[in-house]
Amino acid sequence: MKKLGVATKAIHSDFLKKDPHGAMHMPVYDSVSFEFETAEETAKAFEGKRAGHVYSRITNPTVENFEQKIKNISSGFGVLAVSSGMAAISNLILAIAGSGDNIITTKHLFGNTLSLFERTLKSWGLEVKYADLTNPNSLSDIIDSNTRAVFLEPITNPQLEIVDMKALSKITKKHNILLIADTTITPPYLFDSKEFGVDVEVISSTKYISGGATSIGGVIIDNGTFEWKYNPKLAEDAKKIGPFALISKLRNEVYRNLGACLSPHNAYLQSIGLETLTLRADKSCSNTLVLAKYLEDNSKIDCVHYPGLESSNYFDIAKKQFPNGAGALMTFDLSSIEECFKFMNKLSLIRRATNLNDNKTLILHPGSTIFCEFSKEQKDEMGIRDTMIRLAVGIEDVEDLIFDIEQALIPKNGM
Ligand SMILES: *Cc1c(COP(=O)(O)O)cnc(C)c1O
Repeated sequence: MKKLGVATKAIHSDFLKKDPHGAMHMPVYDSVSFEFETAEETAKAFEGKRAGHVYSRITNPTVENFEQKIKNISSGFGVLAVSSGMAAISNLILAIAGSGDNIITTKHLFGNTLSLFERTLKSWGLEVKYADLTNPNSLSDIIDSNTRAVFLEPITNPQLEIVDMKALSKITKKHNILLIADTTITPPYLFDSKEFGVDVEVISSTKYISGGATSIGGVIIDNGTFEWKYNPKLAEDAKKIGPFALISKLRNEVYRNLGACLSPHNAYLQSIGLETLTLRADKSCSNTLVLAKYLEDNSKIDCVHYPGLESSNYFDIAKKQFPNGAGALMTFDLSSIEECFKFMNKLSLIRRATNLNDNKTLILHPGSTIFCEFSKEQKDEMGIRDTMIRLAVGIEDVEDLIFDIEQALIPKNGM
């Protein structure tokens, strides 16, 4: 049969079990537990010898359907849905590393992820090492026998730096170290993580996938490329169940015990959101390119950053890694923090709010918000300038966005 495109797969994915009423959307199974005909059947379900849902913290039909849909549109071998993007990251790290282990990452990370590594997980004995991942060869000096993973975002937020994923994955593969990518702003359709050597993908489905900021959620996608025998926490499982080791470790231990499960209602919202992912990704990426070009041509604006711009240092690599669009996040600078605030306050259509890949265009001053807990030196290290504004572009008519920006750039007294 002809291979289906992502848009088609996102819409037409069969239920694992036929719905008794022929429902077209998987209904919300808002039930905590599920019963069996006999005590023997119940016992079999608990032992995993019989398919069937037992308790919604572990599996649920609506959540399972959402996982199935994600599996369909990605290169995933196994998928686990969780309650948020942060839950996806924390569950995964707790499954693959422990006290005495280390992971390698960069300071150019989503702030809460950095805080999870630096504050929360460090106090449980995990060591975090920082490297310049844009120079993959530098990793060979940092990797040691306790290194369990390299973690990164393929387009960093808000620096919009892009790592050559194939070059990086060559190094991680050589050392048998897991490569994890947080692909929240470039989910499947925008980025084929398996093709570029990522072993496990984590996504905040709160963003693009939810379909317009309807609900919080997260997913872990195991691409099935990593030999789990190379991870001490999973080596035993790898002997018995091979490639299923990670998803099984999560489902039957870490995820089950931590309890950060996705609610069936949110799984329903996100399944519906997923069906229009490609449309929204196309529109928001093309809007971003138009806005970036418009701002680049405007003399009041400095340093417009968008990897889809020909002037960007990352233009060539972006084209290769993200052929359907370089995401919907861009930044630019005004002359001072005061100018930034004045400009933002004058906007009427574009909303002042955190979040990204909403249907609405959102604007934020990263230095005074997401990164306010960091010192000036730390911000410099992270590439956060006080003059920088972040625009998370939505799917409105782009002329209306330009009109709003234009009126906000003109001083009130006409000077
Ligand atoms: C928002 C975000 C997260 C966290 O996701 P939540 O769903 O808010 O927990 C993680 N990584 C990136 C890149 C994000 O943008």
